[in-house]
Amino acid sequence: MLKNNHDLYEEAKQYIPGGVNSPVRAFQAVGCDPIFIRKAQGAHLFAEDGRHYIDYIASWGPMLLGHGAHIINEAIEAHIKDGISYGLPSWIEVEVAKRIVEAYPGVDEVRMVNSGTEATMSAIRLARGYTRKDKIIKFEGCYHGHSDGLLVSSGSGALTFGVPTSPGVPEDVVKNTLVATYNDLDSVKALIDANPDAIAGLIVEPVCGNMGVVSPEPGFLEGLRELCTKHSIVLIFDEVITGFRISYEGAAGYYGIVPDLACFGKIIGAGFPVGAYGGKKEIMACVSPSGPVYQAGTLSGNPLAMQAGKVMLDYLKHNPAVYDLIEEKGAYLQAHFQKILDANRLPFTLVRNHSLMTLFFMDSVPHDFKEVQRCDTKKYAKYFKGMLERGILLAPSQFEAMFISSALTKNDMDVTIQAFKEVMEEFRV
Ligand code: PMP
Repeated sequence: MLKNNHDLYEEAKQYIPGGVNSPVRAFQAVGCDPIFIRKAQGAHLFAEDGRHYIDYIASWGPMLLGHGAHIINEAIEAHIKDGISYGLPSWIEVEVAKRIVEAYPGVDEVRMVNSGTEATMSAIRLARGYTRKDKIIKFEGCYHGHSDGLLVSSGSGALTFGVPTSPGVPEDVVKNTLVATYNDLDSVKALIDANPDAIAGLIVEPVCGNMGVVSPEPGFLEGLRELCTKHSIVLIFDEVITGFRISYEGAAGYYGIVPDLACFGKIIGAGFPVGAYGGKKEIMACVSPSGPVYQAGTLSGNPLAMQAGKVMLDYLKHNPAVYDLIEEKGAYLQAHFQKILDANRLPFTLVRNHSLMTLFFMDSVPHDFKEVQRCDTKKYAKYFKGMLERGILLAPSQFEAMFISSALTKNDMDVTIQAFKEVMEEFRV
């Protein structure tokens, strides 16, 4: 039976804060009701109200191959009869760890966790335990999950001490979080100079997906590597979005920069709640029970999630053409979108890095958080709604990426391009 979306939302709000289990799903930034999904297949989502959408959220990243890929489904079906969770080691965990170690530059050992938040939180604790220093550097506009020390705003005091983004995060915790400007090595140097021998780690999204897609300028990641090496700071790449997406070797492999630690999530669980952090043997040796830095998880390395992850990673490794295919799809959408923007003389800026794309409602390519703040978010909301009415589901915020999956068909993309054309014509003055 079909259910009205708005009614579902009203009822959900009686039982769940804000009606959703993660704030971004509430679609508040674009002033719409959330959509309750009944099922998904390929690049398509089917909602409880009977509507159907072409999906550019892709579960925020895990569904690189689209929904319901048969290789993943078969792996789950084949193993569910063997038990769902043991709380004891199973060999499949080692199989997935091996694959990450073989794929990712500089990762000698890897520890499985249950989310991206856990991965970054644990990597930060490890960097502190390893260096015996307390402060960390993050960048304005980069999101690393919702652990206290990383949930720091990008307010005007940004270049000194962090300001908590959320009530409930003590100032005392975030005083150790320093905030620098993305693509600005001088802002990093200034923090290092102002805090000599106090910085344990620097965490960065090597390609930023959380302020819309902002790519690293040539020299930025290299510069971070040099500064971290020079000052004995643990360089942490947060590859929760970019890992196994930008390339099989992640952004690290693509840009040729080896971090000391890396965080993963999303794709390595093929849609299951999985995260991981790994890095140099010398640093990972500090993790409990090898070393003193405590970190644990009842459900970590869940055997079903690991079966799905193993199949996903094997597929990507043995079918490198899938990355070319996704790149072609991204290029196709980008070229057609750009043609439509040009034909309508619209001063909006399309940025794409592999399978991540954002249409910024501003007239130039942004390089940092302050620049993306210039975007006209009201126009983004109009764009989002216009596309949604035409059955195209985009990220419900200007400051998120559009995820391109291999499951998009030519017809899906042509329907998307036609919708884009109609919506952009509405923007013409
Ligand atoms: N790091 C990055 C770069 C992310 O984009 C996200 C989530 N989108 C996280 C960490 C947190 O991951 P999770 O939501 O699985 O906790």
